[in-house]
Amino acid sequence: MYSSQKTIGILGSGQLGRMLVLAATQLGIRTHVYAPDANNSPAGDIAHSRTQADYDDRIALEIFAKNIDAVTSEFENVPAITMDLLSKHCLVSPGKAALHTAQHRIREKTLACELGIQTPRFWHITNSKDLQLAMTELNCDGILKTCQLGYDGKGQLRLNINDDPETSFAAMKTNDAILEEIIPFHAEVSFLAARAADGKVSLFPASLNDHKNGILKRSIAPAQLAESIIFAGQSAVCALADKLGVIGLLALETFITKDNRLLFNEIAPRPHNSYHWTIEGCASSQFSQLIRAVVGIPFGSTQCYGKWQMDNILGEDLDQLAELFSEKGAHIHLYGKSEPKTGRKMGHINRKIN
Ligand code: ADP
Ligand code: MG
Repeated sequence: MYSSQKTIGILGSGQLGRMLVLAATQLGIRTHVYAPDANNSPAGDIAHSRTQADYDDRIALEIFAKNIDAVTSEFENVPAITMDLLSKHCLVSPGKAALHTAQHRIREKTLACELGIQTPRFWHITNSKDLQLAMTELNCDGILKTCQLGYDGKGQLRLNINDDPETSFAAMKTNDAILEEIIPFHAEVSFLAARAADGKVSLFPASLNDHKNGILKRSIAPAQLAESIIFAGQSAVCALADKLGVIGLLALETFITKDNRLLFNEIAPRPHNSYHWTIEGCASSQFSQLIRAVVGIPFGSTQCYGKWQMDNILGEDLDQLAELFSEKGAHIHLYGKSEPKTGRKMGHINRKIN
C-alpha cells in the first residue's frame, strides 16, 4: 500500500529521469538515481540520493538494490545483467521482455507483425550482399538504420537505388542493421499506455508529431485523426504492452499513410518526448503514471484539459529563451544541462492552444 517512505530507483540521469524525480517528489516518494554520470546530471542533481557507477558494477548495484523498493529506467538500453541482478531484490520496470524487445529494431518489428500490426517493409542487413539484394527488392528509396542504440535520428542513412551497397554498408559501422522502405507519411503519431503490475492499463490521448533532422520538434495533442486510426493505435499499444508484460509506460511511434493506414515505427518502454505536454495537460502526467505503476498506487486521470502543444528547446534555440520567459501561458521546463550543443535537448515548452 501507499507509503511516502518508499524509494524508487531510476537508471539513467537525463531529462526523463529528472521529470520522473519531480513527479515522484510531488507524490511524496523518494528517488535514487543510478548512472555512470549521476553526479552533476539533470536527474542526479535533484534526486534524493544518487550512485555514480557503471551499469555492470555488481557491488554498486547490490548496494543500490538494498536501498530502493522498486526500480525503473529512463532508457531502453539497460544491459540484461543489470536488470537480472536488480530483479532478485525488487520490482523492475518496464520488465525484461520489454527492454529486450525494444532494444532491437528487428525484434520489435517482428513482434508487431506477430500481433497483426502493420510495419513498413524491412530487411535485416548483416553484410553488403544483404543490402544489395534488399535494395533491388525495394526498388525505391530506403532508410538504413542500426538495429541497436539509435536515437534522435542517429545511426540512420537515407538511401536510393543509385547508392553503392558496399559503401553504404561500410558507413554504418555495424553488421546488425535494418533496411526499411521510406514511408511518404501523411502524419507521425504516437500512442502511450501506462500498465500496472496487475495488468490495468491507462491510455493517454494520441500525439501528433513533427520531426526535423530525425529529432522531435513539436507535438500537438490530442491529435485530430480519424476514429479508426485512434482505435488502431490505442489497440496496438495495449496489445504490445500486454504481450510484453510491461510495468510502467509503453510508447508506440507510428506513421499514418496518405490512405489512412497505421504503420508501426518503433516502441519505447519509458516516458516519451511526445508526451511532455501531459505535465500541465493532464491531471496525471506520463511521469506520474509511471511512478504510480511502479509504486502500486492507482492511476490518475489522463483526461486532458484542452489542446496542447509541446516544442523542444534544443541547444541552438537557447537565444529565444529571454522572449519565452515573458510569454503569457508558456510553461517552460529546462533540464539544467550545462553544455548546450546543436541538436541537444535542453528543455521544452508547453502551451495550451485552445
Ligand atoms: P529514432 O530511434 O532515432 O527515433 P526512428 O526510427 O523513429 O528512430 O526515426 C526517426 C525519424 O526518422 C522518424 O520519426 C521519421 O520522421 C523518420 N523515419 C524513420 N524511419 C522512416 C521510414 N521508414 N519512412 C519515413 N520516415 C522515417
Ligand atoms: Mg523514433
